[in-house]
Amino acid sequence: MSDVSRVRWTIIPRTAPEPWLDCSRCGESKRFRSSDKIRVNANGKRVDAWLIYKCTACGSTWNRPILERRPVRSIEPDLLLSLHGSDSALTRRLAFDVEGLRRSAGRVEQSDDALVVETVLSASTMPVRRLEILCSVAEPVGLRVDRLLANRLQLTRSRIAGLAKAGDLALFPPGSQLRRPVRDGMRLVLDLRRSPADTLGGGGSLARPT
Ligand SMILES: [Zn+2]
Repeated sequence: MSDVSRVRWTIIPRTAPEPWLDCSRCGESKRFRSSDKIRVNANGKRVDAWLIYKCTACGSTWNRPILERRPVRSIEPDLLLSLHGSDSALTRRLAFDVEGLRRSAGRVEQSDDALVVETVLSASTMPVRRLEILCSVAEPVGLRVDRLLANRLQLTRSRIAGLAKAGDLALFPPGSQLRRPVRDGMRLVLDLRRSPADTLGGGGSLARPT
């Protein structure tokens, strides 16, 4: 065993991206949330489908176009069934399609509310001298890298920034930023030679004598 500990953090967002839209009932811009319901309108040989969003203040609805005037024959039967049944896997996939949402809505807010599941890839001897974290993010999330690290390692964000400034925290690929949301495949490498693990709070990856 070495003194390098490698873990994977699988980050699962709990809240889908939310568009800000002009709500006619509220009379101002409000945050809308997916209702996880799909409305389908089959008119002869054409099908329209929308994912229904609701104003978080008053419940007014906004229909996000999913299919517009699509010939029914061009739609996979399974997809048509899923649309009619508001299949939960489909509504989740659509709700997390942040690029598609931006095309319809403009301003979109991404939540930093996420579940983080840790898997130890290779255990180390104690004390840990180097911690490598591989981030796995299947769906877009608004969780910033510094906030993720602060939460998991039980440190303040200013401490995280200090570690980066001192060269004891490196982000890959190059150009990744602490203040930007975590992305799939990102690698965070903590050099703990100057900041032993036992001074980094008690949290998660560092506390466990694996
Ligand atoms: Zn409203």
